[in-house]
Amino acid sequence: MTKGDKNAMEMIIQEYQKNDIPWFIGYSGGKDSSSMLSLVFNALMKIDKFHKDVTVMYCDTGVENPIVTDYVFETFEKLKKECTLHNIPLKFKILKPKLNDRFFVKVIGRGYPTPTNIFRWCTDKLRINPVKQLIEKDDKAIILLGIRNTESEQRDRTIKKHKTVNEYYLKQNGSSNKIIFSPIINHTLEDVWLTLRYSDFPKSIDFSKIRDIYQDAESECPAYKETKGSSCGNSRFGCWTCTVVRKDKSMGNLIENGYSELKELYEFRNWISEFRNNEKYRCDFRRNGVKGLGPITLEGREIILNRLLETEKESGLNLISDEEIERIYELWEIDKSNKKYIEKNALQNWL
Ligand code: SF4
Repeated sequence: MTKGDKNAMEMIIQEYQKNDIPWFIGYSGGKDSSSMLSLVFNALMKIDKFHKDVTVMYCDTGVENPIVTDYVFETFEKLKKECTLHNIPLKFKILKPKLNDRFFVKVIGRGYPTPTNIFRWCTDKLRINPVKQLIEKDDKAIILLGIRNTESEQRDRTIKKHKTVNEYYLKQNGSSNKIIFSPIINHTLEDVWLTLRYSDFPKSIDFSKIRDIYQDAESECPAYKETKGSSCGNSRFGCWTCTVVRKDKSMGNLIENGYSELKELYEFRNWISEFRNNEKYRCDFRRNGVKGLGPITLEGREIILNRLLETEKESGLNLISDEEIERIYELWEIDKSNKKYIEKNALQNWL
């Protein structure tokens, strides 16, 4: 174990024992959150008396990279057993966005164009709100995130904006009772790999699998508030449908490295990032009735749904749930009967 890891563990123990505010660990399966979880696990192994809840949360947006989701679900199951074995009272929680906030319900049901840097409607709905909902149940909460100072210039700026007197703690936007704690804030990229490589526990965290999946990724889509409109980085992990980045290098690299089942998903993503801009399938009016590039038309949404279902069939992967499809159909009906919803011509709805 490195000196940095020993220090981080000592600090985790000290912070854990300081008060009875519950901890929520943001876990994505990626290298940073895995190395942080690993340090917390090792620290808790050194404690005899547990006096507060520590919950590991994973946000399953419904459009996570399926290779990552499979790995995380598998790891969660193994971790639960390992915790029982070592009497570590970690709780595990899989979070989901509300049905109306899911990616395809928004895009195919409501006609939202897929997100871009200037219209990034997704991060709050898919990632931040589910976490907020869980932690809001407690008056006070400490959220442990694997944030590092050197991840990117953008991230450095955000960290600076949220910093507190204690360099390991960051303020949470809009809440003074919820604070972010990152025990690995000063870890370098090399440090997190070393933590993962040389930690004896938990055995459930698979170093070689993480290296396999994340070797080419620089960062992940964040689960805490970033500057409005900022991008996830050029090579990052997040939703397989993400059109905020021009090219999804991480997915491209995974395909090159043998995950050929992602090929159809990659093609769909590239297709929809063009399709969203096709004015033929965009309303000439916004939902507020003002003339301007509006939602994707009903015809456009149907094309997307059909293409998605085809992609699902070809890839053999489950890409949309039945309840999402049902909701999409309901939303189409609502638009069809809404006189204020105008596609191409103000007259058409009155004919
Ligand atoms: S990965 Fe992309 S689509 Fe998903 S929440 Fe982040 S910015 Fe939005």
